[in-house]
Amino acid sequence: MIQVVGGGAAGCEAAWALARRGVPCRLVTTTLDALYALPADVWPGTPPAGTLWAAVAREAEDASGLGTRAAALRRAVKRELERMPDLLVLQSNVVALWREDGAVVGVRTWEGPAHRADATVLAVGTFLAPRLTVGTAEERAGRLGEMAYDDLRDDLAAHGVRFLRRSLSVPGDGVTPAHSVAFDQVDPLGTVEGVGHVRSATGIRRWPDVAGVWLLGACADPVGVEDAAAAGRDLGAHLAGS
Ligand SMILES: Cc1cc2nc3c(=O)[nH]c(=O)nc-3n(C[C@H](O)[C@H](O)[C@H](O)COP(=O)(O)OP(=O)(O)OC[C@H]3O[C@@H](n4cnc5c(N)ncnc54)[C@H](O)[C@@H]3O)c2cc1C
Repeated sequence: MIQVVGGGAAGCEAAWALARRGVPCRLVTTTLDALYALPADVWPGTPPAGTLWAAVAREAEDASGLGTRAAALRRAVKRELERMPDLLVLQSNVVALWREDGAVVGVRTWEGPAHRADATVLAVGTFLAPRLTVGTAEERAGRLGEMAYDDLRDDLAAHGVRFLRRSLSVPGDGVTPAHSVAFDQVDPLGTVEGVGHVRSATGIRRWPDVAGVWLLGACADPVGVEDAAAAGRDLGAHLAGS
């Protein structure tokens, strides 16, 4: 059983890549309605080959009369993931890694249950200690309308993970207001114990001491949606052994 935390482009792709190869997988994410959500309701670009996004792009385009293309993409992704026999999609908020004898064996959730897994992929994007600014208002949110809590970031920090503060902005278009999100990103040069790391541009790379955790997507690299999707595809294939 492999567990993916975070249902953005990176996490959805990793979970799909695993499940379609028959690897039992659990995708845990804060909000099921925000699977594959984008910072603004726009089509994200060109789907990389071999991705979930590419597989559902036509369906999403055909259904986009019911709303925006991005909303149609989210619906198509949710349907595709939920119908996969080897994949459990779970709405829950992860607050900490679950450690036993120095190794990571799963995750702990805000709701209570802890989930054990052979490997855990953290794909939590722009949601590590995020602060969303809209005009003069500031909220704890990793994306417009999506609350986030600092627990997981604090847990990682308590175990030696170092961070770089990043910020991304959306200019605003008359529908989506101009806003920005500041968030922590794992410092690839920081001291990290027991954390694996994936960098899509240079292939799969690990920090030396890997104990069941992988970092993926915008929480680890300054990636856009296409890069995040490709990195998820590649990590899923790697963990599935193909
Ligand atoms: C303001 C802003 C502007 C941006 N502009 C662009 C742009 O112009 N072009 C571009 O390509 N990219 C842009 N991005 C980045 C883009 O959103 C990401 O690169 C892309 O979404 C892929 O990220 P991801 O899958 O790694 O993470 P995300 O899409 O951030 O997904 C992370 C997922 O993890 C879930 N999650 C987080 N914490 C937890 C937890 N503790 N427990 C359970 N689930 C959790 C979240 O709910 C979310 O679904 C922008 C981002 C922001 C915030």
